[in-house]
Amino acid sequence: MKINKNHLNLVDSYLFSKIGKKVADFSKLHPDAKIIKLGIGDVTLPLCSEVIKSMQNAVLEMSKKETFKGYGPEHGYEFLRSAIKDYYLNKKVNLDLGEIFVNNGVKSDIANILGLFDKDNIVLIPDPVYPAYVDANVMGGRIIKYIDATEENKFLPLPDENVKADIIYICSPNNPTGAVYNHKQLKVWVDYAISNKAVILFDAAYEAFISDKSLPSSIFEIDGAKKCAIEFCSLSKTAGFTGTRCGYTVIPYELELEGCNLNKMWERCLAAKFNGVSYIVQKGAAAIFTDAGQNEVKDIINYYKENAKIIASALEEMNIFFTGGKNSPYIWLKCPGNMKSWDFFDYLLNDANVAGTPGSGFGKNGEGFFRLTAFGDRENTIEAVNRIKNLKF
Ligand code: PLP
Repeated sequence: MKINKNHLNLVDSYLFSKIGKKVADFSKLHPDAKIIKLGIGDVTLPLCSEVIKSMQNAVLEMSKKETFKGYGPEHGYEFLRSAIKDYYLNKKVNLDLGEIFVNNGVKSDIANILGLFDKDNIVLIPDPVYPAYVDANVMGGRIIKYIDATEENKFLPLPDENVKADIIYICSPNNPTGAVYNHKQLKVWVDYAISNKAVILFDAAYEAFISDKSLPSSIFEIDGAKKCAIEFCSLSKTAGFTGTRCGYTVIPYELELEGCNLNKMWERCLAAKFNGVSYIVQKGAAAIFTDAGQNEVKDIINYYKENAKIIASALEEMNIFFTGGKNSPYIWLKCPGNMKSWDFFDYLLNDANVAGTPGSGFGKNGEGFFRLTAFGDRENTIEAVNRIKNLKF
């Protein structure tokens, strides 16, 4: 018997636990301090009424013999996949229902998809980025190469023809930097992937935050992407599903590598390993894509984006460099006075009682940067910003 010792190579997931500990220690010492948390990327507004109504009806259906549902299709009910298909048609992306796989949030699919690829592949991951990509590949024992996302390339790195990669992660809008690739830049990635016979794993978890219509919100808006990309999209941030759990993965039929059809392989893999997302949750998810549901979730997204605007204009006023906040719920700022990320964290917590996320937790290029989120409530966001504006840097 041999253990997969690659798991021992995982770095302790200390970022949010360290933040939590520091905040708890501070609260103990200063019980009267009202700490405002603009750190963790979890939503704060409840599910919209269309989702709730639809889920309540689904619960009633489950209570009657005639409408009760047992196991559903492992890749999702047709009513939800049709709604997602229509959502993509609005982006001028035509998908077949069989190309859409409903999941229980994208984190697990992003990791499990790696099962389709041999261990001996080179993985390219931007730095800084959502840490789950690195962890999933460390556990698989894959070789990881990092591509630098820096102030110089506006946190939107492009491929280096001299660097060979087989599996490429792209997160746009990016967590944590808020940077979003345009069509031309994504086309460069698609061309690179096709010429290197590589696959792009495109994480579109924050696509609903893109308000600039000139920017792509799906990689499949790019010519040729169906030949080289898989897209992951989550309802977590779009519609407050972080606790309800639903998302979807799109694998085009055209995606063939080494003579293997990845769509068929994933379908077979799900049949072996997954029994689908609950009917009630899928009914709730389908309500998001109705006209009334879209209006409600747009209002929620606009609320968060207004928070982002409030943070962004304060940083502008203070002459602090930042990216994001326009087409993303994240604001990525450069720590004033060349402070290191954790030093700035301590300073903000001590002097403004505001908790954010140190950029260094997202990769080495995140050192000296800091992430604030727009997912807080309005009153707290305004108060946090006012306190930050009163600080001396
Ligand atoms: N991808 C990115 C970039 C994220 O930031 C997150 C969550 O924060 C996820 C994926 C996970 O989403 P889900 O809740 O659908 O698992």
